[in-house]
Amino acid sequence: MSLRIVVTVKYVPDATGDRHFADDLTVDRDDVDGLLSELDEYAVEQALQISENSDDDVEITVLTVGPEDAKDALRKALSMGADKAIHVEDDDLHGTDAIGTSLVLAKAVEKAGYDLVISGMASTDGTMGVVPALLAERLGVPQVTLLSEVSVGDGTVRGRRDGDAASEQLEASLPAVVSVTDQSGEARYPSFKGIMAAKKKPVQSWDLSDLDIDEDEVGLENAYTTVDSAAERPARTAGTIVKDEGEGGKQLAEFLAGQKFI
Ligand SMILES: Cc1cc2nc3c(=O)[nH]c(=O)nc-3n(C[C@H](O)[C@H](O)[C@H](O)COP(=O)(O)OP(=O)(O)OC[C@H]3O[C@@H](n4cnc5c(N)ncnc54)[C@H](O)[C@@H]3O)c2cc1C
Repeated sequence: MSLRIVVTVKYVPDATGDRHFADDLTVDRDDVDGLLSELDEYAVEQALQISENSDDDVEITVLTVGPEDAKDALRKALSMGADKAIHVEDDDLHGTDAIGTSLVLAKAVEKAGYDLVISGMASTDGTMGVVPALLAERLGVPQVTLLSEVSVGDGTVRGRRDGDAASEQLEASLPAVVSVTDQSGEARYPSFKGIMAAKKKPVQSWDLSDLDIDEDEVGLENAYTTVDSAAERPARTAGTIVKDEGEGGKQLAEFLAGQKFI
């Protein structure tokens, strides 16, 4: 038996960098360092663990929709141990919203061939957490999201989703889409051997025409949501410092009452 896993990974601006909006109010991705979205490292890790725990012939493909530099995110995932990569890149994708992104991902996943899609719980820049569900809807397959534990066996994906009040044991027949949380286990660091091996692993590049997607289905002009304005968040103030000279407790209570916290 073989198992084809596609892991969707997003290339995001480095959160420690100076992230800002470009003139067209999209996130400026040009002069900001980017990297593999940290929450997608957990998705890659779970795919590798499924492969290591399986007797089947498992193939892991990592897939990203993004600008040229997004190749760095694919290289990182390949150096962790994924087998091959697909990069969907096209100038007309600039400013694409979640609806458009899910269309491009669905077409790419179908073209690549898959049994299981694994996504992160959310990206670390848009943070919407909706793409896995949109993707499952477009593919017409079940979705099992926000799993803290996942396994595959006998044509079924199983997992545990931890909520505040209870944990759920969930399962779905393959093909399916799942997303995993940051509680699903530490993501491995690429070994030197892994980094060297990644340089030789195949990265396919596709554009919109390869996926039969029309430019008026994606891009900023065709987004369902638009950003009207963006303003710098006010710099954090030092805050109120209470020097306790015997009245500290009273001053604190007055401050909390003043803020309507109590
Ligand atoms: C600050 C900011 C605000 C935004 N606000 C909106 C908005 O309100 N409405 C809107 O429609 N769009 C919005 N976008 C655009 C949106 O981020 C992109 O369309 C994005 O590709 C999908 O949304 P997300 O990053 O929130 O994904 P999420 O739904 O958070 O992503 C979940 C998972 O889907 C996969 N995934 C997401 N994007 C990609 C990708 N490009 N390639 C491969 N896998 C991917 C990853 O595995 C990821 O972990 C915003 C972007 C930014 C940076």
